[in-house]
Amino acid sequence: MNAMNMRDEPLVYELSREGRIGCSLPRSDVPSKEIPLEIARSELDLPELDELTVVRHFTRLSQKNFSIDTEFYPLGSCTMKYNPKANEVVASNPGWKNLHPLVGEEYAQGAIELLWRLQEGLREVGGFAAASLQPAAGAHGELSGVLMIHAALKERGETKRKKMLIPDSAHGTNPASCTMAGFTTQTIPSGLDGGVDMEALRAALDDTIAGIMITNPNTLGLFEKNIEDICRLVHEAGGFVYGDGANMNALTGVFKPGRSGIDVMHFNLHKTFSTPHGGGGPGAGMVAANETLAPYLPGPIAVKADSVYRLEMPAKSIGRVKAFHGNFGVLVRAYCYLLMTGSDGLRQVAENAVLNANYLKSLLEKVYPVPYKRHCMHEFVAKGAIADTVHTLDIAKRLIDYGFHPPTIYFPLIVQEALMIEPTETESKETLDLFAEAMKRIAEEASKNPELLHDAPHIAPVARLDEVMAARYPILCYRG
Ligand SMILES: *Cc1c(COP(=O)(O)O)cnc(C)c1O
Repeated sequence: MNAMNMRDEPLVYELSREGRIGCSLPRSDVPSKEIPLEIARSELDLPELDELTVVRHFTRLSQKNFSIDTEFYPLGSCTMKYNPKANEVVASNPGWKNLHPLVGEEYAQGAIELLWRLQEGLREVGGFAAASLQPAAGAHGELSGVLMIHAALKERGETKRKKMLIPDSAHGTNPASCTMAGFTTQTIPSGLDGGVDMEALRAALDDTIAGIMITNPNTLGLFEKNIEDICRLVHEAGGFVYGDGANMNALTGVFKPGRSGIDVMHFNLHKTFSTPHGGGGPGAGMVAANETLAPYLPGPIAVKADSVYRLEMPAKSIGRVKAFHGNFGVLVRAYCYLLMTGSDGLRQVAENAVLNANYLKSLLEKVYPVPYKRHCMHEFVAKGAIADTVHTLDIAKRLIDYGFHPPTIYFPLIVQEALMIEPTETESKETLDLFAEAMKRIAEEASKNPELLHDAPHIAPVARLDEVMAARYPILCYRG
């Protein structure tokens, strides 16, 4: 229960006091001059504070943060695994951190070599021909990948292929990326086993399809057993297969998506390869492709010739999608993780992620119904429908009182009252047992005292937010 050892809010939020100073500047060693009025900004009304007040303010804020470093965070689809601290030590090396992105290639050989090694290592993990580390997030990788498909179709003169097929279990970024790239989308329903409905897929295949965007394992945490047939059928119809690789944590070292027929796929380095994520911070969404689509990759990408490392634009590149060389600091962390884990380790990662998810599923499924009766991969989707007056949102909010981050809720859309739970491989059996115990207790509370759930969370400084207002009209200025 120590996740929420929140201190009381300070009585006043505005801490600034006129004339209070937090640091003293050294005496100027150049002649002083008035700042010209036309460049001085009078509206810059900065707070005036002493150092201790600033330290307390930010320390207090940091303690309000719910993080993987403090508690269990089973947020389905997000792979909130532990981010080893060694990654941070390596990434903060001044040689990486202070390298100017415009420095000549001859002075950045080590950095380009790191990009090359990471690119080649992950390309191998996925079974692809080439990869680009440019994209800054999964959704950005998706957009890059569908733009590559767009460019390849255009080059073939296949301009009437405008439609991307997307299973109804897909992540919301999938249709968004396709739309941004200029495609229309058509939803393909899931079958009774939770996979793509093959009859519906066959019916949708015609000479207007650009391809399919498919997630494997899908967002129900189920392996798409027909993946090879799906790829074959789409290829026979003249389309491409985009793989959403966000769920790669279930597959590393076990299954290579590139070998199943996927043409282009992104990896979420900030999920599978343990770089920090959340709060909209920097991420990395490497995109990898087979021989056919490799020439269209965004660039530049790292190449090695005669033990010299260079950055090159692929032959028919869709161009840059990010300034400079992607989020380099994130890439250093991912490479560090890759080296520490090694190929045997990567297999163990996937196996333990799947084992942990199935263990937790077995503890919970008698209380929280799981709609698809199959072994799951790295996550599973259960239903929060455990009492008439209680909803998934109430269960999620009550979990906060027990010191756990809620799972992903109401996604995927095809399961009503969905609770999407992803424990990851880095959690111990003890943690999983405690979480299952809390979930069972909440189910008892739901039948005996539902009010307790309706009013939850009871210990957080703010209980239930207006999420629509928060998303539409965020207050980003401290003065409100
Ligand atoms: C996280 C996720 C994405 C998007 O990745 P971002 O890095 O958040 O942009 C896409 N698809 C699935 C299945 C995901 O879980």
